Amino acid sequence: MKVIETDGIVLKTMDFKEKDCILTFLTKNAGKKAGVLYGGKSLRSGNAAKAELFVLNHFEFSEKPNMDLVRIRKCELQESFPLVRKNYSKFLHASYFSELLLQCEIPELDSHEYFDLLKNSMSLLSESQTDTEIKLNFEIRLLKLLGITPNLEMCFQCGGELWQERSGRNPAPKFSVPYQLDASLGGIRCPKCCIPSTYSAALHPGSLAFLHVRQKAKQSDSVFRPTQNNLEELDHALFVYFRHFFGRNLKSHALLKENSWKN
Ligand SMILES: [Zn+2]
Repeated sequence: MKVIETDGIVLKTMDFKEKDCILTFLTKNAGKKAGVLYGGKSLRSGNAAKAELFVLNHFEFSEKPNMDLVRIRKCELQESFPLVRKNYSKFLHASYFSELLLQCEIPELDSHEYFDLLKNSMSLLSESQTDTEIKLNFEIRLLKLLGITPNLEMCFQCGGELWQERSGRNPAPKFSVPYQLDASLGGIRCPKCCIPSTYSAALHPGSLAFLHVRQKAKQSDSVFRPTQNNLEELDHALFVYFRHFFGRNLKSHALLKENSWKN
C-alpha cells in the first residue's frame, strides 16, 4: 500500500450512499484519482465544502494496486474559488476545463503541468472578466501538453505557403479568404485545399494569424488583442479539434457556446 500526500483540484463529484461523495480529482504529483470522501454530503461533518466542484484540497490518500478508488485519509480545503461556482459563465468555463481534463490520459510525471494549468486558469477565472480568452489560453496550453499543437507552418495538404511574412511580431497570411484547421491532419489547409468535412473548421486570416501569435507567445506577454470573431472562430475550430482527438463530443461545450456567443 502506497500513501501519497499532494494537492488536488476536484473535477467531478458523485453522491455515494447517504452522506458520502466520490471525488475525482487532478493531483499535483500523481495524475487523476478518485476516492470516497466520507461526510462529503453532510454539512455537519465539515467535509461538504471540500466536496464542491473545482475546490483545491490538500489530500492524503492510500492506494492499493488494481483498486479503482483510493482511500482518502485526510482532506483539507486550501482554496475554494467561490466566484467560479457563483458566476454562471465562469462555472461553464470551469466545467469545460474539467471535462477536457477528464478525457486526458495524464501520466504521473507530467501531472504537475496539468495541475498548474488548471490551478492558474481557476485563479484567473476568479479574478478577471475575460473568460473566453482564459479559455483559449487553456486550450492552447492543453494542446501543447498533449503534444498535438496544430502545425501552422504550411498547408498540410499541398505543402504550400500560408504566410507572406512570418517573421516579426505580426505574421501576415498569404491569402485573404478563409483557411481551415483540419483536426485529422493536425494542421492547416490553405484556401485552395479547403474541403467540407466534420473534422475541419474555417479560420479567417485574422484568426489564423492570432492563433499563430498566441501559440508562440508566453501567456503573460500576449500583446495582440483578439477580436470577438477571432475568439468565436477559434472556439469552434478547437472544439472540432478536441472532439476529433478524444473521439467523442464534449457535452459542456454546447452550454458554453450558447452562453458565450448569444449576443
Ligand atoms: Zn493547400
